[in-house]
Amino acid sequence: MFDYTAPETLLKDKVILITGAGDGIGKAAALSYAQHGATIILLGRTTQKLESAYDQIDQLGYPQAAIIPLNLESATEHDFLEIANTIEAEFGRLDGLLHNASLLGQRTPIANYDPNLFEQVMRVNVHSQFLLTQALLPLINKAEQGRIIFTSSGVGRTAKPNWGAYAVSKFATEAMMQLFASETPESSQTRINAINPGATRTAMRANAYPDEDPLTLATAEDIMPLYLFLMGQDSQGTNGQSIDAQQ
Ligand code: NAP
Repeated sequence: MFDYTAPETLLKDKVILITGAGDGIGKAAALSYAQHGATIILLGRTTQKLESAYDQIDQLGYPQAAIIPLNLESATEHDFLEIANTIEAEFGRLDGLLHNASLLGQRTPIANYDPNLFEQVMRVNVHSQFLLTQALLPLINKAEQGRIIFTSSGVGRTAKPNWGAYAVSKFATEAMMQLFASETPESSQTRINAINPGATRTAMRANAYPDEDPLTLATAEDIMPLYLFLMGQDSQGTNGQSIDAQQ
């Protein structure tokens, strides 16, 4: 695992938005960031899952969270700008953004890939990240030490057969991270990086590898050290990097 032990108050008073926060790695990050003092804005498409994460944060006595139900496939530029306005009005700030939501799509040769599904995956995994980052960047740049984390994958660095639109979307995610990071002005305190979670015990992984024993895999909680490092003050010297959570 990435070697980092976060101070208990690492994210005290920070406001952090997480996409796909109702399940898997996004939910684990929401709980971990809240445990370290952050107020979490839980964004996702299944309200019931977001409510369950909200309740868990509440029961553990962490700062009260907020919920934004949103389907990233159909969300428009207008929706994202409205989210930015609402966050500014309600919280007056945004310190961090974790782009975590993704669709796996089909595991099939690209020559046979369903064109509609290809578009769907690219909308959720790429286009929505672009629009959300554009909309929230002005607010994040106002934070003392703003942070944006993108979520990559092994197949976002080397495409492997049958990973289709998902692999294409993760290459695009790496490029988007590099662009936003390298275009950050020298004077800015914002840091933009990507995480490759590695094989992690979630519903997506089980869909991609139905024959695998999930108990052999790291849990979403296990990989949190890198998520904490890149969201907190100790990563001030890190920008434009794509880092493995399991190393
Ligand atoms: P997961 O359990 O399937 O969670 C994905 C999340 O994305 C869910 O909360 C899901 O919401 C949300 N989502 C999907 N489509 C959405 C949409 N249209 N609008 C809003 N939210 C949407 O997957 P995970 O394994 O935790 O993956 C988290 C991230 O890590 C992804 O970016 C994935 O590519 C990456 N990753 C995972 C692994 C791994 O081994 N698990 C490895 C490499 C990279 P619903 O639950 O409501 O559908």
